[in-house]
Amino acid sequence: MFITNGVSCDWIVLGAKTDRDAGYAGITLFVVDKDTPGFTVGRKLDKVGLWSSDTAELYFSDCRVPASAILGEENKGFFQIISGFVWERLICAIGSVAGAQITLEQAIAYAKERKQFGKPIGKFQVVSHELAQLAIDIQAARQLTYWCVKQHLAGTDTVAQAAMAKVLSTEVACKVADRALQIHGGYGYMMEYPVQRAWRDTRVGTIYAGTNDIMREIIAKDLGL
Ligand SMILES: Cc1cc2nc3c(=O)[nH]c(=O)nc-3n(C[C@H](O)[C@H](O)[C@H](O)COP(=O)(O)OP(=O)(O)OC[C@H]3O[C@@H](n4cnc5c(N)ncnc54)[C@H](O)[C@@H]3O)c2cc1C
Repeated sequence: MFITNGVSCDWIVLGAKTDRDAGYAGITLFVVDKDTPGFTVGRKLDKVGLWSSDTAELYFSDCRVPASAILGEENKGFFQIISGFVWERLICAIGSVAGAQITLEQAIAYAKERKQFGKPIGKFQVVSHELAQLAIDIQAARQLTYWCVKQHLAGTDTVAQAAMAKVLSTEVACKVADRALQIHGGYGYMMEYPVQRAWRDTRVGTIYAGTNDIMREIIAKDLGL
């Protein structure tokens, strides 16, 4: 069973084992037509968030594709995939920073609008300092990400740095979404306010594109551990 995003597509890029004994050096990428006999799309998975991205199980039963379906070279699939890992992590970091910024702005707007005890809740220091800290966290994540993108574009090896940017940005995004929801009080838990979506959508950031635990493994290895 495979899981994919974009079940409504016409083609999928599939990584399949083509040499069972060769470990990561035995994977090949194929471009597979969705109408290929034996290929079926199973149930759409019911996710906590990211509802605009359809994610489903894919099944392959005696599914045969011609050699011309190979994308790149036979048994080089793993290396083709990892060549995109730094960008994947940086894109994840960029999206997390952008999402966190929007969520922060929504929380600030709400803190200015919502009045309790005769004044906007943003005038309570506990709320204003919370928002100030979130702004600091986002700025730190943004600057690390910008720096990392610049290094990568300059051709510098940024494997560990991209992992750092991914970890920091996704964890900041989760923190911002959680605190922003808290600032919205009971309304934050209602589907009519967008902050609940940020809370649900950001959660996967620490899981996909390589979990943050694995990112920390990469960073630790880079530290010589
Ligand atoms: C919405 C969504 C979209 C996705 N999209 C894609 C996609 O487009 N392409 C794609 O390839 N994948 C995609 N994934 C898969 C995603 O990358 C994996 O779920 C993720 O890498 C974790 O793998 P796993 O689920 O098998 O967890 P596991 O590997 O089972 O990990 C479970 C837990 O154990 C920890 N763990 C495992 N091994 C170690 C270790 N060596 N050291 C320390 N901790 C460890 C993990 O960090 C995690 O906390 C998607 C997942 C989701 C939820």
